[in-house]
Amino acid sequence: MDRINADYMLAIEEPFMKVPLEQLKRTVRQSQKHAERETAQVGAALGDLAKRDGALGAQEVDQALDGLIDRLKTLKRKLETAHHEEAQLIQRSKQRAMDLSELEGFESAAQPEFQRWCRARLDRVLVDYMLRSGNVETARRLAAGSGQEHFADTALFELVMDTERELCERHSCQGALQWCAENRSALLKIQSPLEFELRLQEFIEMARAARTLDAIAYAKRHLTPWSATQLPRIERAMMLLAFSPATQCPPYRAMFSEARWAGLAADFRAVIFRLFSLPPQPLLHLLLQTGLSALKTPACVSDDPAEHSRDCPVCQGETLGRLAQDLPLSHHVHSNLVCRITGERMNEDNPPMRLPNGHVYSLAALTDMAAKLGGGRIKCPRTNQLFAIADAKKLFVS
Ligand SMILES: [Zn+2]
Repeated sequence: MDRINADYMLAIEEPFMKVPLEQLKRTVRQSQKHAERETAQVGAALGDLAKRDGALGAQEVDQALDGLIDRLKTLKRKLETAHHEEAQLIQRSKQRAMDLSELEGFESAAQPEFQRWCRARLDRVLVDYMLRSGNVETARRLAAGSGQEHFADTALFELVMDTERELCERHSCQGALQWCAENRSALLKIQSPLEFELRLQEFIEMARAARTLDAIAYAKRHLTPWSATQLPRIERAMMLLAFSPATQCPPYRAMFSEARWAGLAADFRAVIFRLFSLPPQPLLHLLLQTGLSALKTPACVSDDPAEHSRDCPVCQGETLGRLAQDLPLSHHVHSNLVCRITGERMNEDNPPMRLPNGHVYSLAALTDMAAKLGGGRIKCPRTNQLFAIADAKKLFVS
């Protein structure tokens, strides 16, 4: 019972390790690309200068060289910033790995150090939940208060929320398109149509504003490169130019719909989560579902509310029960008898008692009820019939 299965426990922590590593990969790749591009361009410009040697005056050469030196200085500054960012990400990964590896050192679940580790884990899972639900400041405070700052991917979630706001509130695709440009090769790898959807939205806005010529030019430039996979949708989009935004024709009404913005925001979140190996649902839900799946029985999903137990979290349809909706029923080798009145287990110490009407409750519940009602009387809570406690028959659990 006290044994710790570190592998199972760490499975849920995987995103915490993947996010900084993915960020690191991106930062390194971006600065590498940038450095290669800049040095190649400076090299080409130098070659050009050498070729035109003699044709240019000393002042012109000086100016050209100064320009190139400035360019290299800017590159150096950018690389220094990137280097600082990379060092932070490495440090963050290291701290996370060290915290998580502590788990291997615990021998028993009863150890106070293990309890502390679990408490910290709960905090970081709550931080993840708050960041996902947009409560960044609360998440930041909780992370700081419990020494879990290095587990809070605040910048990533802020990027998600800023972009979502820009899409939903300001109806602008600019930030999202910029992000797509920076992550084009990763998006290609997962064959994500996100950039196409954003481009399509910009086209739709031009059609809405009756800027037909602009829309056609935009489509030629930004939609046709997607013809291989999106041709039918591009064709339909072009038809949009013949319709007014007030059209009731279903496919075009859907394209003009404001709801598309919320859809784009959801797509953006889903894609960024996928690239960073973040599960779509909060880690807190995953943890809770693990526990709930062990408790879910056929009685929990019964249509008869009388079958539900007030002490079973799965039976609470409005709260935890909702999280358990899609979970399979647990496999119970041994069944537990639970008293419908007290929610306690019935066993040899608190045996099940059968009333003359056939309903069964625990001895403790009936004794308690008889003391309250007086005169050795008990009342069946399901039928409201009155009986003498002496008429209740003890049942034997085999
Ligand atoms: Zn239940």
